[in-house]
Amino acid sequence: MNYKKMLKKINDLSFYMKSLTDEELRSQTNVLKREIKQKKSSQQVIIKSFSVVREANRRVLRMYPTDEQILGALVLYDGKIAEIKTGEGKSLISTMPLYLKSLIMGHAFLVTTNDYLAKRDYVRIGKVFEWLGLSVADGTNNFNSGEEFEANKKKKIYSADIIYISCGTLGFDFLINGLAERQENHFISSLDFALLDEVDEILLDNAQQPLIISGAPKVQSNYFHIANTFILLLKMDIDYEFNNSENQVWLTEKGIEKLKNYFSHSNLLDKNYFSLYQHIILALKAHHTLKKNKDYVVENGQVKLLDSKDGRILDGTNLQSGLHQAIEAKEGVECSQENQIISSITLQNLFRTFRQLSGMSGTVKVAEEELIQTYNLAVKRIKTHKKSNRVDHAPQKYITTQYKLNAAIKKIQEIHEMERPLLIIAGSVETSELLSLMLHNLAIPHNLLNAKSSVKESEIIKNAGNLKSVTVSTSMAGRGTDIKLTKESIQKGGLAVVITERLANQRVELQAKGRAGRQGEPGDTFVFESLEDEIIRRYISEKVQTYYDKNKSSEMIIKKRLIKRCFKKAQILSEEQAFRQRVKTVQYDEILKIQKKKVDADRQKILEIENVYEAIEIIKSNIPVALKSYLFDQEQQSDAKFRRFILDYIDYNFKLTKFSRELNSTNKKIEFVQAYFETQINKKREFINDNVAFLKYLKICMLKAIDSSWSKQIDALNQIRFVVQHRAVAQKDPILEFEKEAKNLYDLHRKELSGLLLANVSLSLLSINKKKLTVTFP
Ligand code: ADP
Repeated sequence: MNYKKMLKKINDLSFYMKSLTDEELRSQTNVLKREIKQKKSSQQVIIKSFSVVREANRRVLRMYPTDEQILGALVLYDGKIAEIKTGEGKSLISTMPLYLKSLIMGHAFLVTTNDYLAKRDYVRIGKVFEWLGLSVADGTNNFNSGEEFEANKKKKIYSADIIYISCGTLGFDFLINGLAERQENHFISSLDFALLDEVDEILLDNAQQPLIISGAPKVQSNYFHIANTFILLLKMDIDYEFNNSENQVWLTEKGIEKLKNYFSHSNLLDKNYFSLYQHIILALKAHHTLKKNKDYVVENGQVKLLDSKDGRILDGTNLQSGLHQAIEAKEGVECSQENQIISSITLQNLFRTFRQLSGMSGTVKVAEEELIQTYNLAVKRIKTHKKSNRVDHAPQKYITTQYKLNAAIKKIQEIHEMERPLLIIAGSVETSELLSLMLHNLAIPHNLLNAKSSVKESEIIKNAGNLKSVTVSTSMAGRGTDIKLTKESIQKGGLAVVITERLANQRVELQAKGRAGRQGEPGDTFVFESLEDEIIRRYISEKVQTYYDKNKSSEMIIKKRLIKRCFKKAQILSEEQAFRQRVKTVQYDEILKIQKKKVDADRQKILEIENVYEAIEIIKSNIPVALKSYLFDQEQQSDAKFRRFILDYIDYNFKLTKFSRELNSTNKKIEFVQAYFETQINKKREFINDNVAFLKYLKICMLKAIDSSWSKQIDALNQIRFVVQHRAVAQKDPILEFEKEAKNLYDLHRKELSGLLLANVSLSLLSINKKKLTVTFP
């Protein structure tokens, strides 16, 4: 698409739109719908619809989109990512692509990072769509607590043309929707187009975060404390190795020897003992990769995770696959109960289910390579409406944290005396508290952003542009909210951003700097960093380490080029590592996604079954697989095994002691089971005595079987993923290994599922109380 040319044509037509009455302008929606149906050239449709929405924005929201905003809107419509600086009006820009995509594709979603922002934009902007005759929904979770989840309410939201929603709410809705027990409880109609606000935060920073619906408690392992005791006997680099930059740990030959001796068992690496080995690795990981008060805190005898980006306590979020319990063992608190995962999805997989994606953010061009590779999304940079007046001062590099912070505080004092507003960015919660203390000692009043709610955070950030206002914040806090300057603070020189550490990636750094000098206002940014910054420590070279050791009592600013270079280098290394990690997750996710698709298709088939006969046939068709795999697994095909099968899957009370000679072939056995199953199922049918209810019962039995089999599969895949990482040591590609194992496991669970289907139908206990059927599954 030639954006400039399109802009010119939109400008011409916009002029005409101004002359229309409100009625005429609003009727354009129907005209456009017709034109789209008649397959009028897409260019003409874009030009017209953008001009219509532009003019509607002027009339309804009292804001007229600028040329730059139209260019941004075109990029978004084109299914690309637009880099649009803070304060340039992303919410307004999004109205044009959302409007047209909903006309052409169906449901258009505006996805934000939290419910607060989704609601804010819905309230602020949503009315323009209504004015134009489209339906728009507030998709945030504003059900009162205790209120039952209502499919009907959700249905109404998801049937709107345009939906404002947060990625978390959308994700959980998606999971719940996937577990519906009746066709009419499906509430998500279709995921057509999504425009992601702060797209880098969603698709990069939070992409791997799995959303999880958990169910019943798992059988608890008792290895956690033993493993934790054992690893205290091990020596790093001798018994085990730890790769700091990749966060990987594994036992060496020596370590394995120790393990065997300690547990006096020679075959510990045998499949059946793998669980023990796994707990040892978990314990090592808990000790080496997760730090108390940085990654988690211990509060009232509980281990609580901290958000790595802003240090907030993540209530209700636990690490998966036993890592949480391993930390609990390390901290000597009681191990919490691990729950089964019923369903889960990562944000990246969620968004890859949309027919089309696009996104916007102030700082995303630097991540273009990755976005193209993983999501096939190119990034276009949109010029700011007014030229930037921001001055970025060269970073001041020190040797130690102490001297660095002293210098930063001096600068802060200087700026504060000028009455300019200040935003101070800390790399960690600890530093933010230290800075707060230093400001306190200087009697400088300030806000420390460690609020627990995004509402409060956004309020503070919004007011951080007032005269003399000082805000200390971790890098990501309050993202998505614009800092508005007052007239007086503009006159004093605008916002000054002081960054007090080399941040782990350039985007986060640019995001922080971008707070200053928005919409052509004046502003400055200052950076203070030291060789003790966490990211430098992580990637420090020998040369730099020697320099540090020699000079660590010096207050001087680092001048040596060779040493200065290590700051940028560490940032690049950290970005590359995060990139590799995300690519890996995409690859693992892809394998999971393929399997989930099959499961979803099976589920859908069941939901669509129309009569009892069809349902019974489907269930019966599982008998051969179930029986064959059972008999095969049980070595010899004796009568005893066959009887066991019937007892396990068809009838607890099966009595026949001697089978007739005729049951000597597998086929004969299958026929026998089929007939027997039929008598069993007929008993249930008579008991329920209502065709509709009976069909519902059969369907629920089948869905339960599928869901529980999938839950087992997810659990097994999580373990396998863990295992294959250790095969990397043996020169095997972990992803290929994972794929192979995942396939085997899938086949295995598929076979088990056949049996489970039979058991659910025939072994369930039924009772009817006050006309309500209660089913107890085996
Ligand atoms: P961003 O999300 O890009 O940081 P916002 O959408 O929060 O920006 O918009 C920043 C401010 O600019 C808001 O107060 C908005 O109302 C205002 N604004 C955006 N576009 C226009 C426009 N074309 N005319 C007038 N005000 C605008």
